[in-house]
Amino acid sequence: MMTYSPSRLDTYRQCPQKFKFHYIDHLSSPTEGIESFMGSRVHETLERLYCGLRYNKVLSLPEVLADYKQRWESEWHDHVQIIREGLTPDDYLYVGEQCLTDYYHRYAPFNQSRTLGVEYPLRFSLDPSGKYVMQGNVDRLSQPKEDVIWIHDYKAKGFLPTQDTVDADRQLAYYQMGVQQLWPQTKEVVLVWHYLIFDREFHSSRTQASLEALRQETIALIQEIESATTFPPKQSSLCDWCEYRNICPLFRHLYETSTLPKSTYEKEEGVALVNRLAALQAEEVSLGIEMDKVKEALCAYAAQKGVETVFSKTHKARIRTYDNTQFPGRNDNGRQALETLLKREGKWEEVSSLNTVALSKALQNGAWGLELSSEVQKHGTPHKSLWVKVFPLDEGAKEHRF
Ligand code: SF4
Repeated sequence: MMTYSPSRLDTYRQCPQKFKFHYIDHLSSPTEGIESFMGSRVHETLERLYCGLRYNKVLSLPEVLADYKQRWESEWHDHVQIIREGLTPDDYLYVGEQCLTDYYHRYAPFNQSRTLGVEYPLRFSLDPSGKYVMQGNVDRLSQPKEDVIWIHDYKAKGFLPTQDTVDADRQLAYYQMGVQQLWPQTKEVVLVWHYLIFDREFHSSRTQASLEALRQETIALIQEIESATTFPPKQSSLCDWCEYRNICPLFRHLYETSTLPKSTYEKEEGVALVNRLAALQAEEVSLGIEMDKVKEALCAYAAQKGVETVFSKTHKARIRTYDNTQFPGRNDNGRQALETLLKREGKWEEVSSLNTVALSKALQNGAWGLELSSEVQKHGTPHKSLWVKVFPLDEGAKEHRF
């Protein structure tokens, strides 16, 4: 079984497809967002600052900034990506310098507490048998007084969280579980976030009951991941920053067609099908045979290419396949036995006159429980349903970002 970390679990929660790319297929992306690049350099400089304190060496602010700049220059690579228009690497370099300057002025000479560790590796178990193991590196652990431990996390993100957001944060709650396992005599654990861009410090704490709820929820999530056979893409605003966009089934078609010459672009099969479907939809030929044919061709194209969204310059079509059960029609074999079963179980009224669509839905949403569902399933045959919908693209829509 995998060892899990807060970021591994969060990746799965955010998007199972991204989790698969990263943690199962081990696909590394050559690109790195500049926000992440800048955050890493700031973290490294703060690590150096606190390591020096162990030997009573307090770096001056110019030394801190020189350390940051030297790391920036030595780590810089050609694949650092800037998403926000109009910003340059120097703009981000400056933001990092400002973060460190504000931090320095706020905490120098850094004697608020004893530092127990920086980039401290925690490894702990979620269950007594040691089956579900978690690990992670804490930015800094400190001890302001006997039997009290503060868990620090530096954030170089450009948004300020609410107190509710930090109170619901899982990452440091996991670290609290680890700290309590390693040092059970600890009387109090405080979770501390340093939002460096805003020069703000947030505090939060967790009750043992909330940690227990998180522990159980996490074990259930790990069990779900370990038994998952499919890892569907989950579109969200975070897709804009996803390093796997160019291979993701929701965006890959856009990237693959972006390099086509103008003369062949409109003729590309997927582009042509989406445009045809959009035109038919505009003509409101929704029940026409041609519409069905175009949808079928689009589904075949998507299956062959391994994509779920197909783009043209003006539209995109989403194609989904889901497992379903097809039941015998009114005059088919097996119909009578199915009706008898449903009447016996008192479910007949719910699908009156045996609406097989309603029956499929009742099974799909799991409302009838495992035992009855599997007995009803025996009367049907597995079937794949397809769903195709075409949407207009806005001018300059996010999908067009490369
Ligand atoms: S682009 Fe979005 S949907 Fe695709 S893998 Fe990344 S996070 Fe998931």
